[in-house]
Amino acid sequence: MSFQVPAYAAFSAHEPLAPYTVERRDVGARDVRIDIKFAGICHSDIHTARSEWGETPYPVVVGHEIAGIVAEVGPEVTKYAVGDRVGVGCMVDSCRECENCKAGDEQYCRKGNTGTYASTDADGRITHGGYARAIVVTEDFVLRIPEGLELDVAAPLLCAGITTYSPLRHWNAGPGKQVAVVGLGGLGHMAVKLAHAMGAEVTVLSQSLKKQEDGLRLGADHYHSTADADTFTRLHSSFDLIINTVSAKLDVGAFLGLLKVDGTMVNVGAPDESLSVNAFALINGRRSWAGSNIGGIAETQEMLDFCAEHRLGAEIEVIGAEQINEAYERVLASDVRYRFVIDTSTLG
Ligand code: NAP
Ligand code: ZN
Ligand code: ZN
Repeated sequence: MSFQVPAYAAFSAHEPLAPYTVERRDVGARDVRIDIKFAGICHSDIHTARSEWGETPYPVVVGHEIAGIVAEVGPEVTKYAVGDRVGVGCMVDSCRECENCKAGDEQYCRKGNTGTYASTDADGRITHGGYARAIVVTEDFVLRIPEGLELDVAAPLLCAGITTYSPLRHWNAGPGKQVAVVGLGGLGHMAVKLAHAMGAEVTVLSQSLKKQEDGLRLGADHYHSTADADTFTRLHSSFDLIINTVSAKLDVGAFLGLLKVDGTMVNVGAPDESLSVNAFALINGRRSWAGSNIGGIAETQEMLDFCAEHRLGAEIEVIGAEQINEAYERVLASDVRYRFVIDTSTLG
């Protein structure tokens, strides 16, 4: 059995998103029904809505930065109660048995995690995400939003927050470390805030100096334009860690040259085109080029608690449903400051 929820969906790669009614499964024994209050717009939503990562199953409700209130719990739910402030990120399930799931890295489940949208759920149905008034999720993939974090600024933490927190922690960002963030968008601005809160010295590498004032206010110590070729000469061999959040193809080799010996550049940006690098960019300086996918469930809770402790949320622009398509165009034009968040009460 199921119930119907007002939502917004993508119907094809080339049409604007439009109102849709999504079917949600009834609440099972270990499920939580969440009344979604806010849903962030991640660039991955756009890649998916437009089939940029391969053919998307349409219609699809995207959105994996979900914040809301628990409205109903199944009889075997132990972690949440009606009225709790909760979030859901990019995954809604995984096998829970493989070595990666057991290690808390459900995002790297050997059988593939179940994505919050455009993925196939255990019951064979296609999953639908957060641009909707409600969602039903197994309690193990629900996060608690701590007191002190408003739901609207917390929503983007469920993807942009954890996607940058995880590599910053994994590669030990902290005091004495030089961290560069490439691209000051949704992920980039969270990377700046988090790396600063962890005590690292933070540099933004943006396409222009347009957002310099914001970058410095968010916690960056330095800000440079990558359009200025001199930037790559002056900053040669400067960083321990570079977090690349860029959603498009870029000259990876040029950025690798900015790493110190043993430095690592981590790709979290996921462009549809392949990236490539000349081997000497890695050989010279024993440099590493890595990737990182969101974070595990326990780590996501750790990130939310860290953000609450540091009073750190996303910089947001709250929009209504009718502004979603316009917001997509602004994200594509790098004109987002710094995350659009949908007020889901406007979804009908
Ligand atoms: P976003 O808000 O659009 O930010 C991307 C930023 O990259 C832009 O604001 C812009 O910053 C810069 N940029 C865009 N186009 C560029 C170009 N052609 N050349 C150089 N810089 C460019 O996107 P987002 O939501 O942060 O997502 C960023 C990427 O990460 C997307 O590909 C998304 O799918 C991916 N992602 C990956 C994960 C993961 O787990 N690995 C999770 C979430 C998202 P400036 O204007 O400052 O240059
Ligand atoms: Zn995302
Ligand atoms: Zn698994």
